[in-house]
Formats: sequence, structure tokens, C-alpha cells
Amino acid sequence: MLSADRLSLNTATVKEQWNLEQCVEGCLRHGFGGIAPWRNLIHDIGLKKSAKLIRDSGLEVSGLCRGGWFTAEGSLTPAVLDDNRRAVDEAAAIGAKCLVMVVGGLADQSKDIASARQMVEEGLAITLEYARENQVSIAIEPLHPMYAADRACVNTMRQTLDLCDRLGEGIGAAVDVYHVWWDPELQDQIKRAGKNRLKAFHICDWLVPTQDMLTDRGMMGDGVIDISGIRAMVEGEGFDGLNEVEIFSALNWWKRDADEVMQVIIERAKNC
Ligand code: ZN
Repeated sequence: MLSADRLSLNTATVKEQWNLEQCVEGCLRHGFGGIAPWRNLIHDIGLKKSAKLIRDSGLEVSGLCRGGWFTAEGSLTPAVLDDNRRAVDEAAAIGAKCLVMVVGGLADQSKDIASARQMVEEGLAITLEYARENQVSIAIEPLHPMYAADRACVNTMRQTLDLCDRLGEGIGAAVDVYHVWWDPELQDQIKRAGKNRLKAFHICDWLVPTQDMLTDRGMMGDGVIDISGIRAMVEGEGFDGLNEVEIFSALNWWKRDADEVMQVIIERAKNC
């Protein structure tokens, strides 16, 4: 059973309803332990103001969403690398436990996933060096393989940890149940990750049927993911971070009053 103080609000969950100030106030009002902002909300009001708002709130920052997209311009351009350095700076300024990386998919017009993955590894290596200098942890989020073309060509925990093995200290995985629940190796790979490389834990549910690949995630309890089972796996390795609720839901939760969404999250978390 999860109480509200063990939850973090990923701001995408209420992205159609609340700005950053409203998210912070909402987390405090509902007794959430933390928040995980998306960068666009930070850019909306500026980094200085965002950092003060978040730090003054006392909320834990379970992660900053997101860096990555190394393949966006077909090569590791200065613009791509600069944006990732800025993301590291932002993560440091708001005191985020980690900077979440959605690494990017195939380059435009490309069919070469191997070279996309190579580009991602090089981009991560460069960004990691800067992150280490700034005491920011990097969390690679493996995305479900249905996103390999357009969002992330890192798709499993095994692949993530292979990358981490090669890249060294300061980098680990963001385990999002939506992306990894189906993986027959999940338990073994979570064990392999260990406490040190389990940087974040994201929860929502997989609806059957799913009507949209990106924006039809379910509220916990409405789908088929054994959330408490996966939580037991990460906590079994010593993960003691917050449970970050990240629900993209154009058809349902983005249309509701955000305070109602927060209340339902708290209710459903009791069975997670
Ligand atoms: Zn996630």
C-alpha cells in the first residue's frame, strides 16, 4: 500500500490542466511527497523562478523530464548537445534526483537502427561527463519497442544496463512499468541493475485495448500491469525513491479536473 507521501506527480499527468505553480501547489495540497516536472513547464516561467518555487516547496524532485533526443538532427550537432547540457543545468538547479533520458529513435529517413543506437551512446557519453561535473545522475528510460522508430531506440532494461556498463558511474535506469511490464527478463535485469542504478520508478497502467500509442495510458488499476509486483522487484533491490505517477491520457484523465485526478491517484495507489 502506497500513501500519498510516497508518490511523486509527473507533471505530464495533468499537463492539460496545471502549470508548474499549480502542480507544486496541488502536490502540497494533496500531500504528495514529490514532483517530476517536464522542462517546458520550467521554461514557461524561467529556471530561476522554477528552482525557487520547487526548492521552497520542500517537495522531493524524483526526476526532470527530459533530456535525450540525440538522433533528432541526424548527428550529434552542437544544438543537440547544448540542449542536453542545459537539461543537466536545470536538473541541478531544481535538485532533481535524476535527469531522465528519452534517447531518440531513428534519424529522419533512416532505416539504420544500429547507427541510431551508436549515436545515442556517444551522446550519452558526452552528456554524462558534464552531468558528473555537476553532480547530476542520468537515468536512461528504456521505452516500449513500439516507440523504437520515433522516440527511443533503447527498448529494454538489458539494453539499458549494457549501455550503463559501458558508460560507467553516474548513469542508470528509469524503470517505467508502462514500458517494461511485458519483458520476460524484467526481474533478472532489475536485480542486475541493483540499487545504485535504479534511479527512478514510474507508474501508470496498460489499457486493453490501447487506443493511442502515446496518449492512452491508464490510471493504476485500470489495466493489466502487476504494479505491486514490479514495485516489489525494485524495492527488493533497495530502491527507496518515490513512485512517480506518469499518465498520458488525452481521452480521459487530461479532460478531468486535476484535483479529482490527484484524488483518484491517491485512492488507486493504495492497491499498488
Ligand atoms: Zn516514464
